[in-house]
This record gives sequence, structure tokens and C-alpha cells, in this order.
Amino acid sequence: MIIGSHVSFSGKQLLSSAIEAISYGANAFMFYTGAPQNTVRSKINDDYTKEALKLMNENGIELKNVICHAPYIVNLANNKDESKYEFSKNFLKGEITRCHTLGIKYIVLHPGSSVGIERLTALDNIANALTNILEGNEDVTILLETMAGKGTELGINIDELKYIIKSVNSDKLGVCLDTCHLNDSGVDINNFEIYLNIFDREIGLDKVHCIHVNDSKNPLGSRKDRHENIGFGTIGFEALYKVCITERLKDVPKILETPYINGKAPYKEEIEELRNNKFNPNLKELF
Ligand code: FE
Ligand code: FE
Ligand code: ZN
Repeated sequence: MIIGSHVSFSGKQLLSSAIEAISYGANAFMFYTGAPQNTVRSKINDDYTKEALKLMNENGIELKNVICHAPYIVNLANNKDESKYEFSKNFLKGEITRCHTLGIKYIVLHPGSSVGIERLTALDNIANALTNILEGNEDVTILLETMAGKGTELGINIDELKYIIKSVNSDKLGVCLDTCHLNDSGVDINNFEIYLNIFDREIGLDKVHCIHVNDSKNPLGSRKDRHENIGFGTIGFEALYKVCITERLKDVPKILETPYINGKAPYKEEIEELRNNKFNPNLKELF
């Protein structure tokens, strides 16, 4: 099972991320190149990267299982404010350059929110921006995350993702499935294999390069997006375990973005539970 969690990149950048991931017994991880809420980014330090790669190699973490997540405030859907739209595009180009420097292959991106413009126009804006961003890039793939449908979010069903992917038509554009978001958008994770059948027919499972494994605090179709610890939410341990072991996505990294418990990361325990198919209903009391 290729599984890890989101980790911090602050301090010694990729080296800090790798150390944290290893402490959880992970063989994959995801990080933001800076704070997820803003776009302040420092220059990549090659000495840290070198040390990180050595450590990862010694601990069985392959670069293809390391994912970068773009900050939430990047919005490619709305071009009403021309300067903001340009800023979002340039930021993502910078993120591709940073990932290239680090040797990272995948960037997860929230497609965007339409905020006040027509949904189809917003989808076209995303597609146009991505076409521009991906031009000339040969080694970093942007993964559109499946969204919960909160507010005016886009990418909340297969049709919207398919529309963007077909419009851009680049092999450097893929998808990241998020189980909490899928549940909140109306996809029953108990029928995950059926969802995969439809996804495969409409988009192609070869486009999936990351899965965010999260339970949800809210019911199916609630359009909320609030993550819960594995087995403590409305999806449940068994369905999430099945997502982790599905043969069709066995080489795809599974990344936990579940909440901290009493200020502490639960990832070591949650990874262990999923690897061993053994849920601990008293997990929260350990923290
Ligand atoms: Fe996300
Ligand atoms: Fe996610
Ligand atoms: Zn979420």
C-alpha cells in the first residue's frame, strides 16, 4: 500500500517533509510549498533537497509518490479581475518550476470557484488558463481535485472534470480523487468500484495519480467539505480501507488529510490501521 499524509514543508523544505513522513511510517507524502492560504514562497534550497532525496531513498519513498498541493486561493475560474487571474496563472507556473527543481511530478489543484460568473464560462476560464500554464512543461502533471460542491466550487462531478480535461487535451493534466469531497458531492464511497467504472469510461483511470483518503463529518451529498478521522465519519473505515486496496489504483499514492486530534497528528496510527485493516474505535482517546 502506498500511503502517507500531508506534511509540513517549513524549515528545511523537502528534508523536513521527508523526516515527518518517515516518522509516520509513510512511503508517500504531500506538502504545500508554503502556507496553503497564501502565495508567499521561498527559493528552493538544493542542499536540503539532496539530503531529502538520500533519506527518502533509504526509507523507500519514491519521488513519484510525493505530491505538491497548490494553495487554495489560486482561482483559475474567475477572470473578472484580470490582475488576479494573471497572478493565479503566474503563481502556478512558478509552482511547476519549483516542483521541477525538486523533482516532484504531481501538483494537486482545486479547479476553482465561479463566484458570480456563469458556470460554463468559468469552466472555459479554467481550461484556457491550464492550456497556457501547461505549455512547454514536460515533466510536471497538474491533478484536478474532485470537489465537494461548497459555495460555487467547480469540478464537483465527472462531467465538469471531463469538460476541462477534454478542452485542455494535455497528458500533463490528471485527477486527484478526494473521498470526503466525493461523499459530500453525492458519490457513495460504499460503491466506489461503480464510481471507478463510470470514471474509467468517461475520463480514464490512467488519469488518476493521487487519492486523498479522508472520512467526512457530513452526510452524502451535503456539499460541505469537512474532513473527519478515518472511521469516525459518515463514510466509515471499511469503505475507506477498500479504496486503499482497490487493485485498479494500487500504484496510486493514498494521502491522508484528516484532522489533528488534540493538536497532534494522527497519521502514524491511521496509516497503521489502514495497512493492517484494523480500526481502533478508541483512537481519539490516545491523543
Ligand atoms: Fe485539496
Ligand atoms: Fe483533498
Ligand atoms: Zn477538503
